[in-house]
Amino acid sequence: MTLTTVYRARRIHTMNPSQPEATHVAVRDGRILAVGDLDRMSAWGPYTLDERFAHCVLLPGFVEGHCHLKEGGMWDRPYLGWFDRCDPDGRVWPGLRSMAAVLARLQDLDAAMTAAGEATDAPLIAWGFDPIYFAGDRPTAPDLDTVGNGRRPIVIAHANGHLMTVNSAMLSAAGINADTEVEGVMKHPAGVLAGQPNGELQEPAAMYLVLRSIGPAGLQAPMNDAGMHNFGRIARRQGVTTATDLVNRLADADLAVLERHSTDDNYPVRIVPAFQAFHGSHGAAQGVERLKALAGRSTDRLRLGLVKMMLDGSIQGFSGRLRWPGYFKHPNAAEQGAQNEPQNGIWVTAPAQFETDFETYHRAGLQVHTHTNGDEASLAAIDAIERVLARWPRPDHRHTLQHGQMIDRAMFRRMAALGLCANLFTNHLWYWGDQHHDITMGPDRAHRLNACRSALDAGVALAIHSDAPITPLAPLFTAWCAVNRVTPSGRVLGAAEALTVPEALRAITLGAAWTLKLDAEIGSIECGKRADFAVLHDDPLDLPAAALKDVRVWGTVLSGRVFEAGA
Ligand SMILES: [Zn+2]
Repeated sequence: MTLTTVYRARRIHTMNPSQPEATHVAVRDGRILAVGDLDRMSAWGPYTLDERFAHCVLLPGFVEGHCHLKEGGMWDRPYLGWFDRCDPDGRVWPGLRSMAAVLARLQDLDAAMTAAGEATDAPLIAWGFDPIYFAGDRPTAPDLDTVGNGRRPIVIAHANGHLMTVNSAMLSAAGINADTEVEGVMKHPAGVLAGQPNGELQEPAAMYLVLRSIGPAGLQAPMNDAGMHNFGRIARRQGVTTATDLVNRLADADLAVLERHSTDDNYPVRIVPAFQAFHGSHGAAQGVERLKALAGRSTDRLRLGLVKMMLDGSIQGFSGRLRWPGYFKHPNAAEQGAQNEPQNGIWVTAPAQFETDFETYHRAGLQVHTHTNGDEASLAAIDAIERVLARWPRPDHRHTLQHGQMIDRAMFRRMAALGLCANLFTNHLWYWGDQHHDITMGPDRAHRLNACRSALDAGVALAIHSDAPITPLAPLFTAWCAVNRVTPSGRVLGAAEALTVPEALRAITLGAAWTLKLDAEIGSIECGKRADFAVLHDDPLDLPAAALKDVRVWGTVLSGRVFEAGA
């Protein structure tokens, strides 16, 4: 006898247009059996009525189409970010609003390490830093050298995940000096230190010089069990039932961690890792072989097969690739043309290499998600993919551009024609919206930042994301950004690009599921789909749009298993 549980709710928003609202949902074997009123449930035979959600509102479980499991794994290192941030235990770490506050925090951390008996050359590693919020010059190694006695190597990873700033002790421990000719190793442009490395390292090739000396750290460190556990706690607190891990090497050790959790019935999230197909650590042909070998290991809660590629860097880190007229106020504008001071960001993968590798993955039938932040990178991806598709047409490939923050209407129309999806980084509207307006791209292009309306108008399948831990995992906040487009200074960026609340809710459920080719299974509450729910105290469609981020989450249901937030 198969057991059926019927959940009664205050309201159920199904995201299924043929039946948008309901009061009851029946669940059997982890799947949705029926949606509607109680009469419709009883037609399926005996059931247990579960009233625990009677005062709650159910939505499809939220799908985070671009995040990293590291959201749960960053907290063993100190946080140096500008915004207040909640850790997995629910403790709020206050933001550091000046460079002086950052340096004071580093002083305390250095002193604590010394007091704990740590060796003087044990590195101090912190994360979440972003100098773009501070007025004045970008901090360099000499600023960090004022911490402690200057002998402890210090590494502060930037919030964008693409840059780090290190002190002089770290530079010398890593063997980085005036002779180092690696793109992204920034140097003092003028003054007595002209030509010496200034401590800022942009993008993987430059950061690798430090990571090979201190070992993988931060975003680059492999995922561990504690981090996975913390990620699960954050996800159920935010209503997330399916989450990507959009860069994973998928080595045997990585897979072992993923499988340990995805086979545990108490783990609350379905994980969709994407194979890291850049940094040249493996050829594309080898990548295809690895993914083919792993194909049989997918389960309901661990989905293998996605590929992640990467073209450029980060716009607020000035390593994103921008079309003409480039950056609005580049920090090195005064020394334009100085050696080693790129004015237009960095190709993490050269476009020609991208096209070759993309073709290999595409011909193998795989789905590729490509990081493109600046509009020159988005255009390079569209151009390359158009040529590959002309050579090797394939229906319903759902290749996706990730971030695509500066894509304009002309590009969206080409994407629609090619069948490309967009997963836009709407959290940027809040976290860096003012900086994009005032510093990186200037007002013209900032008003089309993460142009959700243009994407929908062009007919491009749309998702929106947090890129956690770059910004916190919280799909309702991500949806709030897409609807309100407001910045911390109160400015509204491109009101015409705003989504309605229902459109934004669709983008964090069915929209994201579509980009993962999981829309037939998840993303809406309808017969036959997985019983994945976001359980909310408040109805997002009853509240003003400005309150969307304040909707309280009770917890989640994943394939019929109930997970209360905070439990
Ligand atoms: Zn990412």
